[in-house]
Amino acid sequence: MNPDQKGESLSHGVSSTELIHHDYKAPMGFESPQTPVYKASSVIFPSVSQMQTRNWEDRSAYTYGLHGTPTTFTLESKLALLEGGEQCLLLPSGLAALAAVNAALLSSGDEVLVPDNAYGPLLSMLLGQFKKWGIQSTRYNPLDSEDLSHKIKDNTCLVWLEAAGSVTLEFPDLLGLIRVCQDRGVTTALDNTWGAGLSFKPFELLHSSHSPTGITGVDISVHALTKYPSGGADLLMGSVITRDKVLAKRLSKYHEQFGLGVGANDVESVLKGLQSLVLRYDAQDQAARALARFLQGEPSVAQVLHPALSGSPGHEHWREVTCTPLRPEGRAAGIFSVIFRPSNDLEAIYAFCERLKLFKLAYSWGGPMSLVMPYDLGSMRKGTMAHLEPGHLVRFCIGLESVEDLQADLARSMSGLSA
Ligand SMILES: *Cc1c(COP(=O)(O)O)cnc(C)c1O
Repeated sequence: MNPDQKGESLSHGVSSTELIHHDYKAPMGFESPQTPVYKASSVIFPSVSQMQTRNWEDRSAYTYGLHGTPTTFTLESKLALLEGGEQCLLLPSGLAALAAVNAALLSSGDEVLVPDNAYGPLLSMLLGQFKKWGIQSTRYNPLDSEDLSHKIKDNTCLVWLEAAGSVTLEFPDLLGLIRVCQDRGVTTALDNTWGAGLSFKPFELLHSSHSPTGITGVDISVHALTKYPSGGADLLMGSVITRDKVLAKRLSKYHEQFGLGVGANDVESVLKGLQSLVLRYDAQDQAARALARFLQGEPSVAQVLHPALSGSPGHEHWREVTCTPLRPEGRAAGIFSVIFRPSNDLEAIYAFCERLKLFKLAYSWGGPMSLVMPYDLGSMRKGTMAHLEPGHLVRFCIGLESVEDLQADLARSMSGLSA
């Protein structure tokens, strides 16, 4: 056999066509606990007429991977169920989800109001690209609904809410703020990453005679799925959820026009994460409360910021939305911040963060590993800080390690700090 013939005989019998086209169908009756992962850019139509008439916008059919697959539609419907909304969009990160709401709802000349303790990159986005597009942003005090009321103007089109706020974790007067916005006809969007759909139901917060169900809440809920729903600290994804058909249409137009898709493997991870979401949220909540209380008693600690601790800023507002007769202890995310006594300078604080062994120096939260991060409040806040003690702030995100081990790590590392 000469070499040419060998080549022929090797390729003989199987063609690339056969390697691509297939007849495989999952056998009828096959069932397993996990959702199959469908990966697609192309979606195959059985006929031209089906190609021409299929509508993916109501999630009833498939046309192109970017517009949804059975895998993405499954995650969308589970998230809508979790938060109590109806329509859900998936985006490549939590930040992309925040941007989608701004881009879909704001035009040149509009104003958007943001809480003073909003997620930092949201503030940067509004002061950067959105300002260039002629959209003005103004900060308000999330603990004071009158301050919000004074700041709403004729061109205010959107009010952002965050419960609890980033880093300082003040829990806003959520009900008061929503009432003000509803009275003035302004759309509300909540960053619901902290509550994760478990601490409170964002669309069911208030009684209202205007709503057909007698109950209302925020208009839009954004969730960084990167945090609790993923649970693994290993992927990025965001969602935007609403109950309002008109808002849903505006949001999905933006989503479609900007080509915002997510990868099927990441969707699969989030679907798995959702299965243990309640268990993890509650375990991290309990561990965080135990460690926050432990730190409250430490001589080097001036203040512990955790909405479930009485005396923490916004504690009463947190109680109002999460504590029920069935669940008097309420629910809170496993994250808190500590302000150390001013006798500890920055160098001492940084050295403390580096002495910790189990708490890793990293951004984000909701994952299996506990994290720590020092923040410079002076550069972050514009409004009043009268409710905060002076001193340097460190944020702790509690993972799934043993609470005793975490407490020992904190105790050992704090021995270098002063009262
Ligand atoms: C992490 C986070 C985001 C952004 O999510 P990414 O997926 O990291 O972009 C938005 N809001 C809050 C409150 C967050 O903690």
